[in-house]
Amino acid sequence: MLETTIAGSLPKPAWLAKPRMLWAPWQLDGEALVEAKRDATLLALKEQEDAGIDIVTDGEQARQHFVHGFLEHIEGVDFSRRVTMGIRNNRYNAEVPTVTGPLRRKGKVHGFEAAIARAHTRRRLKFTLPGPMTIVDTIADAHYGDKVALAMAFAELLNEEARELVDIGVDVIQFDEPAFNVYMTEVAEWGIAALHRAIEGLRCKTAVHICYGYGIKANIDWKASLGAEWRQYEAIFPALAASRIDQVSVECAGAKVPLDLLGLLQDKEVLLGAIDVASERVETPEEVAATIEQAARFVPAEQLYPCTNCGMAPMDRSLAAKKLLALTTGAALARGHFELTQTMNDQ
Ligand code: ZN
Repeated sequence: MLETTIAGSLPKPAWLAKPRMLWAPWQLDGEALVEAKRDATLLALKEQEDAGIDIVTDGEQARQHFVHGFLEHIEGVDFSRRVTMGIRNNRYNAEVPTVTGPLRRKGKVHGFEAAIARAHTRRRLKFTLPGPMTIVDTIADAHYGDKVALAMAFAELLNEEARELVDIGVDVIQFDEPAFNVYMTEVAEWGIAALHRAIEGLRCKTAVHICYGYGIKANIDWKASLGAEWRQYEAIFPALAASRIDQVSVECAGAKVPLDLLGLLQDKEVLLGAIDVASERVETPEEVAATIEQAARFVPAEQLYPCTNCGMAPMDRSLAAKKLLALTTGAALARGHFELTQTMNDQ
């Protein structure tokens, strides 16, 4: 009960990429970069295992960004035609590539690091991919001319990729959909249909991660504008509850999300964000346990997986390590409380 996992990414070592930034440039190239990505993947696994994380990831060490890491391997996406575009409903500007023709995978996208991760841990392995709606929101389109058609085209490629990852031995495939918290009406209209296309025929657990973004200034400012209660989840959870996705990863630590909204997810497994990635303060185990215990009022503890709010890519590396430890220690504390209550109820 209360097995721990992380949203996906961990900070990269300074010898691999420039630290403490998003879209951090690589420090190496060619064969040296390939080797460095491999080594960093091993370190990310080891650090999670040492912290006691039950369901580990590759730490996203081999990709520059969670969306563009996938797009770089897709034919029809032109990185020489970069445009600056407001993303997440103009919350911030990003330099994005352009879709200029029919989309096709050039080959395996993440097979390299997934195989390395699988070979070097016995723990359950989760692998993250960008969700179709979030991809569509992070790219310019000069070919399809229709957002939904473009999302479905990406969903098909994501499905091909996910099937290969499952063959490698990945236990959970997670799609990252921060855009779900921004375009709430479109989630039910086509966002979930695109996810269903992406998970078609997968013989593994499936998850969707929906957060309020990395701890960068634009996101922190946006959160400050959302008022006393963040109720975005209320608009999308009923449709997710009715979906074929097994797990939903949510942000709950240091967030103004009313936790009773988690009840709307019904029988879904909940990856409960109990670590704030936008704060430099390390949570105490007691705070983590409190978040878990409050959530357990609305979701049975058997369905809860303590997790980070979001990826830790732009975070200080030693801070991330401390937060992982706070997560597992807090989960153990909560587990102890539940077991004690159980024993007392049994007597
Ligand atoms: Zn996130």
